[in-house]
Amino acid sequence: MREITATVLENKRIADEVYSLTFAADDEIAVRPGQFVMIGVGGYPLRRPIAVCKSEGERITVCYRLKGDGTRSLARDYKMGEKLSVLLPLGNGFYVKDTEKKVALVGGGVGIFPLISVIRAYSKSKELYAYMGFRNRAAFCMEYDLAQTKKIAVATDDGSLGFHGTAVQAFMREYDEVRPDVVLSCGPVPMLRALKEAMKGRNVPVYVSLEERMGCGIGACLVCVCEKTNGAHARVCKDGPVFEIGDVVL
Ligand SMILES: Cc1cc2nc3c(=O)[nH]c(=O)nc-3n(C[C@H](O)[C@H](O)[C@H](O)COP(=O)(O)OP(=O)(O)OC[C@H]3O[C@@H](n4cnc5c(N)ncnc54)[C@H](O)[C@@H]3O)c2cc1C
Repeated sequence: MREITATVLENKRIADEVYSLTFAADDEIAVRPGQFVMIGVGGYPLRRPIAVCKSEGERITVCYRLKGDGTRSLARDYKMGEKLSVLLPLGNGFYVKDTEKKVALVGGGVGIFPLISVIRAYSKSKELYAYMGFRNRAAFCMEYDLAQTKKIAVATDDGSLGFHGTAVQAFMREYDEVRPDVVLSCGPVPMLRALKEAMKGRNVPVYVSLEERMGCGIGACLVCVCEKTNGAHARVCKDGPVFEIGDVVL
C-alpha cells in the first residue's frame, strides 16, 4: 500500500449521476481485481473508498456515483491536471481458482464497478456470465466492458432496460442453464442477502465484496468492522472487502 499524489487525466460523466475518473499514479501499480483506493477530496479529513475498475500501468480508472459532499466535490472540482491524494492498492480483492472455469458476476448499483475489474482480468481465461442491476436505463453504463463477457444480462428496477427486476432474480432465472463454478458479487446489502438465500444448499462458493462505511482504509480505525457468522469480527478494509458469503452476517 502506498500514498501517492496522482494527476487527474479525465473525470467525465458516463451515466445519470455516475462519473468515470482516470488518474495517473507516479509509477506502475499492480492492482488485483476487487481492490480499492482511498481518495482524498475537497480537504475532508476522511478519504473516500472507491473500487478500481481498470488499471493499466500507472493509469487507474474508478467509477463513482454522486452521493454526498465527497463524491460531489470529486465530480465538480477535479478536472484534468488537478492533483489527488490517493492510498492504494487496498483490500484483498477477488481470486478465481484455476479449477473455476465458469464465473458468474452478480452486481447491483455501484457494486458493478469492482466486477468490471474482474471482467478485465479474466475475460480471456474464463467463461464469464454477468448479471448487472441498474436503477433504470439512465443509470446504465460500462457497456463496452460488459460486452467482453460470454453472456450479459442487464436488469433494471423499473424495467426501462433489460429484465424488469434485480440482478439476483436475473441470475437465478438462468442458474440451472449456466451452473457456475463460483459466484462473485457486490451490491447493496439487501441484494447480497437475497443472493445468500437463493444460493443456500447449492454447494457453489459465493464471494461478496462489502461496501461498508470506512474511516482509514488500512485497518487501523475499526470503523468498517463487520460481524462474522462464527461470532468473530473482521475489518472490511483490511481483511476484506471480499468475503465468502457464508462467513459474514449480512
Ligand atoms: C471497498 C469499497 C468500494 C467502493 N466502491 C465504490 C465505487 O466503485 N463506486 C462508488 O460510487 N462508490 C463506491 N463505494 C461507496 C463510496 O465509498 C461512497 O459512496 C462514498 O464514500 C460516499 O462519499 P460522499 O462523501 O459522497 O458521501 P457522504 O455520505 O457524505 O460520506 C460521508 C462519509 O461516509 C462515508 N460513506 C458514506 N457512504 C458510504 C458507503 N456506502 N460506503 C463507504 N463509506 C461511505 C464516506 O467515506 C465519508 O467518509 C465503495 C465503498 C467501499 C467501502
